[in-house]
Order: sequence, then C-alpha cells, then structure tokens
Amino acid sequence: MSHVFHRSLTAAYPVAVGGDGPYLIDASGKRYLDACGGAAVSCLGHSDAAVIAAVQQQVGQLAYAHSSFFTTEPMEALADFLVARAPEGIDSVYFVSGGSEAVESALKLARQYFVERGQPQRRHIIARRQSYHGNTLGALATGGNAWRRQQFAPLLIDVSRVSPCYAYRNQQPGETDAHYVARLGRELEQQINELGAENVMAFIAEPVVGATSGAVPAVSGYLRQMRDICQRHGILLILDEVMCGMGRTGTLFACEHDGVTADLICIAKGLGAGYQAIGAVMVSAAIRDTIRDGSGFFQHGHTYIGHATACAAALAVQQQIEQRDLLANVRAMGDLLQQRLRQRFDTHAHVGDIRGRGLFVGIELVQDRASKQPFDPALRLHARIKSRAMQAGLMCYPMGGTIDGQHGDHVLLAPPYIIDSRHVDEIVDKLGMAIDACLQ
Ligand code: PMP
Repeated sequence: MSHVFHRSLTAAYPVAVGGDGPYLIDASGKRYLDACGGAAVSCLGHSDAAVIAAVQQQVGQLAYAHSSFFTTEPMEALADFLVARAPEGIDSVYFVSGGSEAVESALKLARQYFVERGQPQRRHIIARRQSYHGNTLGALATGGNAWRRQQFAPLLIDVSRVSPCYAYRNQQPGETDAHYVARLGRELEQQINELGAENVMAFIAEPVVGATSGAVPAVSGYLRQMRDICQRHGILLILDEVMCGMGRTGTLFACEHDGVTADLICIAKGLGAGYQAIGAVMVSAAIRDTIRDGSGFFQHGHTYIGHATACAAALAVQQQIEQRDLLANVRAMGDLLQQRLRQRFDTHAHVGDIRGRGLFVGIELVQDRASKQPFDPALRLHARIKSRAMQAGLMCYPMGGTIDGQHGDHVLLAPPYIIDSRHVDEIVDKLGMAIDACLQ
C-alpha cells in the first residue's frame, strides 16, 4: 500500500516517469498526450532543454538564500522581465510558490494598502459566483465554487458575491453584449452600495474563468466596465490570472485582450510551466509606493519567496516563449482546436457549448442542447470522461461544478504552447471517443 496521502485515497494512479514534448510517459512506457498541461501548467511541454539547463545551472550555483537576508540575480532578472511586459501601472513583483499563495498575498497587499492609507474600514471583498481562486482558507473563501467550499464554510471569512459573466447560461436571448455588461455592472454597483463603497477593499475576478467551468471568457467590454466601477469607488481590482495568464490565451497577460489593467495581478501555473513551483503577484506602483512610504514593510512572507532555482526556471520559460514566438502558435493552434472541436461536436446531442481563447478551451456537456439541462451530478460524467481519456492516452481536465445551485459538466483543454496540428487532431479524436463512450 502507498504511504502517500494521495489526492484520492481510493484511485490507482499510473506512475509518471518521463516526458517528451507534449507527452507524459508512465512506468509501463505508455504515452499520454497532455492536452490540459496537468492543470494548465505545462505550457512548454515536459522536456525543454533550455529550461532544464537553466534549472541545473542555478541549483548548482546557489541552493537557497532566504529573502529576508538576500536578493538574487534570477529573482531580480525575472521581475525586470515581467514588469517590462506588464500592463500599465504595474511596476513590481511579489514572488511566491503557487497560485493560492499569490491570491492570499494579493488580498493581504490590498488590505495593508488601505490600512496604510488610513482607511482601515475597507475590508470587504467582492468576488463572483463562478470562480476558483485556490484552496488555502483565504483563497477558498474568495472562490465561488460551492462544492469546494461546503464542508469548510465555518472556517471561511465572509465574501460577497456577484454573478459571473457567463454568456452561454446567463446572457438573455436577444440581449446585446453591451446590455449584458451594463446589467452586470449595475449588479456590482448595487453590491458595492449595499456594503458601502467606503468599506469595500477589492473586487476579484478571473479574466477567463478556468477551473470552475472550463475556459469561459467574459464578453467584450465586461472587464473594462468592472475596472471603471472599481476605480470610481476607490476599490482595488485584483485579476486572478493564475490559470489564464502567461500566454495561455494568446497574450502574455489575459487582460491585455480587453485593454484593461489592474491593481494586482496573480500569476502562477504558466510562469514556471511546471519546471519549478512558482507564482507571483504583479503589483501596481500605487500600492508599492504606499507601503514603501508608509511602514516600508509588507507584513507577510513565505520561506520560499523568490527561490533562485524557481526564478531561473521561470525566466528561461518566459524567454523560450518569447524567443520562439510561441504566443503566435497559441493563437493559431487555439483557433484550429476550436474549429476542429466544432466540426467534431457541432451536431453532438450533448455538447452545449465550445468556448475559450487561445489554447484555453472549454466544452460544456448537457443532457439536452435545447434546454441546456445539465446531467445528473450522480452520473459523475466528468470523472468517467477523465478515466476513458486516460485509457486512450489523453490527459484532459473534465470537471463538475455547481454554479448558482446548478450542476455542470465541462472539459477543459489547455495543451502546451508547442503543439502542432497533428496534436490537435489527436486531442479531438481521443476526446471524441472518450465523450461518446461515456454518453452511449
Ligand atoms: N487561481 C486560479 C484561477 C486557479 O486556477 C488556481 C489553480 N487551479 C489557483 C488560483 C490556485 O493555484 P494553486 O493550485 O497553485 O495554489
């Protein structure tokens, strides 16, 4: 019996022993096309020689230096690289080890910013019902996914929630994008007014929703509207780009697509592409300056902040993406993937929606296309699809979630940025087989 406290204590996991480009290989030699990058992590595939060399070089040179004693060259270089490419107003980077830590840190940065500005009453967070921000208690409190929160609810701080921007289910027939955005804007304003704007600290959202319901981009104009409302009320906008950032949607930061910046942007997964564990918060000059000119010290910290090997890996990853112009491939292969999925599933009785941006694509499965009636959660459709796909040598990320009390089954695709059209065909063929096998 395994002594590892695995994620599932009843499942039998294959043993991953190697990687080859977009494929993972298990101990029996079986190859799996990684069509989800694990959880939208492995954006450079599994065997990038330049990144591996950077990791080896750095760990050979310096194993560890604690961030309250030293800075390091890789940490400084990575921050310079990211800030040079960041949306307007962002000019420093707070490094952490993953997505949840990034969200926790962003929430605490927002809080300390207002305390130092003499507005300690600003403590309320507004989030959206369709969101995932991580599994640590602050991040979990902020996320809207009911089944992840349920049993931990007594441990969680109070967070207010508004509707997501989820066109497939919530945009009314005949309602234009502009009207839909205005409706969601009014709802946010109403929530702010109920709490009292002077008490609200931050609004947090994923520009393209990931782990709750499979790559849901907001409609055009939504993010700008939310940004404007926050600005009008002096509320910080936190964008959680842990999953959708770092090139996944075809631009380095997902919010670039909407021409919008934020006060704090959380990034992780694609930053280190799985070669090392790393996340970060991109911080606006206003927040950095307030804390620098106030107490001068952010009252937070983790042991592995800015780990030199992690920063060296992330810098090498980002340089590879830029030097090889991989974002152009993300856009081209993303378009092709959506096109092939539509050809394969356009007439499928149980595929309700195909959506996404770049190599971040979601498929929503429904019992009935016309009524959009979801499947019974007891069927555990997502788990069965995952297992069938694995049998066929395909990793995809099916999930079942509850939004506004309604269950939904989705499949998230987030393959590495290095895939070509043959990989797209393999994804669509194997996924089609897995879905059909589970729905017969
Ligand atoms: N935010 C978002 C949008 C995520 O998708 C995730 C992970 N799926 C997290 C935060 C949490 O990141 P981590 O698992 O690295 O803690």
